[in-house]
Amino acid sequence: MEKNELFRNIPKVDVLLERESMAALIGRYGRALVTEAVREETDRLRRIIQTEDEAAAQRALEGLEKAVEDRLAAMCAPRVRKVINATGTILHTNLGRAPISREQAQRLTDIVTGYSNLEYDLENARRGERYAHFEGLLCRLTGAEAAMVVNNNAAAVLLVLSTLAAGGEVLVSRGELVEIGGKFRIPDVCRQSGAGLREVGTTNKTHFSDYEEALTDETKALLKVHTSNYRIVGFTESVPASELAELAHSRGIPMIEDLGSGVLVDLEQYGLSHEPTVQESVRAGIDVVCFSGDKLLGGPQAGIIVGKKEYIARMKRHPLTRALRVDKFTVTALELVLLEYLRQETAAQNVPVLRMVSEKEPSVRARAEKLAALLRQRQLRADVTVTACQSQVGGGSLPLERLDSAAVTLDPWQMSADALERAMLALPVPIVPRVAEDKVLLDMRTVAEDELELTARMLGEVLA
Ligand SMILES: *Cc1c(COP(=O)(O)O)cnc(C)c1O
Repeated sequence: MEKNELFRNIPKVDVLLERESMAALIGRYGRALVTEAVREETDRLRRIIQTEDEAAAQRALEGLEKAVEDRLAAMCAPRVRKVINATGTILHTNLGRAPISREQAQRLTDIVTGYSNLEYDLENARRGERYAHFEGLLCRLTGAEAAMVVNNNAAAVLLVLSTLAAGGEVLVSRGELVEIGGKFRIPDVCRQSGAGLREVGTTNKTHFSDYEEALTDETKALLKVHTSNYRIVGFTESVPASELAELAHSRGIPMIEDLGSGVLVDLEQYGLSHEPTVQESVRAGIDVVCFSGDKLLGGPQAGIIVGKKEYIARMKRHPLTRALRVDKFTVTALELVLLEYLRQETAAQNVPVLRMVSEKEPSVRARAEKLAALLRQRQLRADVTVTACQSQVGGGSLPLERLDSAAVTLDPWQMSADALERAMLALPVPIVPRVAEDKVLLDMRTVAEDELELTARMLGEVLA
């Protein structure tokens, strides 16, 4: 057939829109969107006729209505979707970091689907403060005098330095000039805040005297940064926070600490190495401590700042605070998670991140065996075994820590591990696995009990 004839066979947009199949789509998606999809698909058809052979052009012409329908479905499908995290990395920044529990999510729904007292003081019938909901709670949990919250910990560091050190200098050890990822670098944040950075000590060793000698009239604060995502080992030395706090106080300036992960419980009780807690920093006399809401704390994305009343009060008045303000989703979810920490005995069960961090290997293995059994029932075209593996905490927390864990390992008969991984990522609920030695591993530490059936069913389809 001539190209010209093929072109003539493309229906006009308004003619196509009159067809019955299109009327059904208009009912579902609305006229404007269907018209747009029809335009885009007929344009695409023209390009195919122009550039491809006759058979391809015919196929595209016949499939036009179906193509419009598929395009509309793709346009209207949410792009942010639930995935099953089978990587074993608990705080996976690419996968949304800390999940909150179903109970917490249910209460969150109740609050955000209606109105709330977000900034309303019900006792006195007047405007209230959005931080008031958890300020008392944060003070009780950490021992600090005051607290506030901004969008994330990067914002918290920016606000703290902008408020307390702009126009002057802040001293930081060369061993702590970290890059966290996502372009967050301490020297850049200092510059952005208007504070000059004065580096002290060396990469591996910083002494008390290094700080002492660097102090001038320009020094507005001392800053300690938790080296979250790396460790310097060997011939090293750093100055304890309490000594730095004393030095700062002797000059009448604040001691600030960016703690990164914000742990509120002693992780050693779960067999992990010691991670400094917020309480310890407050007790050491640090004036302002900031940390993330969605790392080891296990809450929503947030930057939590606790410390001395006078400094927190200045931050609340700083113009940046309005720009870095948290919304009702964050305020509500954060309060719910913090409430769990009041009862330390149950926090490890009720905060999903703590549950995953503290879960022992036999318990993970039991879940792996259960999934393996479900998969064997389905007679997949793959060898299914339960193997030992190691999980990591992730999110730049506890970088050297490895948690003994168990994986369901899939060795497919008719495709490569990479091909299986891609097929798993294309599932209705994508499964994100690990791939090693041409096998696909599902580290079960981060796969919940209530995800097993769905995981088995979907893998059954991929490997049938
Ligand atoms: C993770 C981290 C940050 C950034 O926190 P976000 O909440 O991700 O913005 C800042 N400082 C340190 C030390 C960190 O570990």
